Amino acid sequence: MQRSEQAELVVVGGGVAGLAAALAAASETDVLVLSSGPVFSSNSFHAQGGVAAAIGADDSPSLHADDTHRAGRGICRPGAVRTLTEEAPARIADLVDLGVAFDEGLGREGGHSRRRVVHAGGAETGKAIARTLAERAHAHPRITISEGEPVVDLRVADGRCVGVVTPRRSVAARATVLATGGYAALWERTTNPPGALGQGIDLAYCAGAALADLEFVQFHPTALVDDGFLLSEALRGEGALLVDDDGSRFTDELAPRDVVTRAIAERGRARLDLRGIERERFPGLIATLERAGYDPAAEPIPVAPAAHYTVGGIVTDLDGRSTVPGLYAAGECACTGVHGANRLASNSLLECLVFGRRAGLAAVREPSLRATSGVRPRTRPEVTVTPALRHALWEDAGVIRSAEGLERLARSRALLPRLVAESALARRESRGGHFRSDFPTEDEEFAGHVVLEFDREPRLERWS
Ligand SMILES: Cc1cc2nc3c(=O)[nH]c(=O)nc-3n(C[C@H](O)[C@H](O)[C@H](O)COP(=O)(O)OP(=O)(O)OC[C@H]3O[C@@H](n4cnc5c(N)ncnc54)[C@H](O)[C@@H]3O)c2cc1C
Repeated sequence: MQRSEQAELVVVGGGVAGLAAALAAASETDVLVLSSGPVFSSNSFHAQGGVAAAIGADDSPSLHADDTHRAGRGICRPGAVRTLTEEAPARIADLVDLGVAFDEGLGREGGHSRRRVVHAGGAETGKAIARTLAERAHAHPRITISEGEPVVDLRVADGRCVGVVTPRRSVAARATVLATGGYAALWERTTNPPGALGQGIDLAYCAGAALADLEFVQFHPTALVDDGFLLSEALRGEGALLVDDDGSRFTDELAPRDVVTRAIAERGRARLDLRGIERERFPGLIATLERAGYDPAAEPIPVAPAAHYTVGGIVTDLDGRSTVPGLYAAGECACTGVHGANRLASNSLLECLVFGRRAGLAAVREPSLRATSGVRPRTRPEVTVTPALRHALWEDAGVIRSAEGLERLARSRALLPRLVAESALARRESRGGHFRSDFPTEDEEFAGHVVLEFDREPRLERWS
């Protein structure tokens, strides 16, 4: 029989958001971190470019906020953007205090009107941050980390989340923070590691939580054609050019990602010319290209778009509260509305740091648990991700979508792909990371968030 245990706070996921939540909460309570993968190799380790924060002399949180709203195509939640951009400098200072060694100077990335991206090891920012947080969490006397232990169910009693279930045990807790990452690995071409399948989002939905913005998927324009290896936007920030097979430029390299992505998708692929930049600033990237058989000093590198970041997820307030009491979410699995229809580059690690910390601090305020037996959620999520399913997502809910493909995908047996299709069908316009060939322009009628809840029709909400 499965073991039954009690914890104060359970954090599900060991990426930057989960660790930021755990470290914040551990100043007040004991925290159990459950992670299906090792905390030293989450998706967060793959982040290259950096973290955006208005710390330059010519910058301010309000300029950072303006750029975030512009990228989000008018539907970013204003309160979330204000919180993100105003707290950013303090969260960078926290990381420096914890020992993260950032490089000299600030980087510039697409959609930013200022140089404001802090980075480490050239393009190894995620690794530098996630490793430091993981080391601190491991050393913390009030944090227990269990790796290789996926959460397979949430315990829900009287409409409240009262803990989690894993294959090993059932853990009762007064609050649960989901920080399980996004779902970009559901697409055939992706920059994400294979585990980014959105399991936490499935679990939250089945427990009754509202989801939103699932149709907004950021396709990164420049992934290596062979395997989806990401060629960071920082390269274009430093002057790398996008050219066609004849060597001619065809787009503004620093335009928002969705614009650059569609410009490449219309051609099928493109080449990234790194010959004119200081390549020694990106030692890890250049070494990977050389190992793949390319010579970046001599030839432009073939690139094509790949699914990279998922904007949508579990609806939360600015302190990580989902619509189910006791259940919190932070990081890429959450949807605060901060990214609107498209994420501004380097705002996602920042989101994990700002809203992960806020979720951890709020979750410890939940009331103690009364005795409860725990009730099962209404259904259990199905996650059978086959190559055929990933191909279907690429074909039917890829860079350019239409009703025909989306209706096909909406008949899928897999839960999250079906919900992505339902959201994309409900948004009969094109905006940010969602482009429909049958509705190719923005329509003011849809200037809001498509919200999905179990057994209810999709609805459009406007958030302040
Ligand atoms: C190649 C690449 C480059 C990027 N570059 C940048 C960048 O330069 N700047 C930027 O801001 N962002 C960047 N991003 C995006 C950013 O890395 C992610 O948005 C962010 O790291 C997500 O962090 P997270 O903590 O929410 O989730 P993750 O880091 O994905 O962690 C999720 C955790 O949850 C665990 N988990 C999942 N399901 C379960 C379950 N059922 N039970 C238990 N545990 C579970 C996983 O094992 C993992 O520990 C990049 C992403 C990629 C892929």
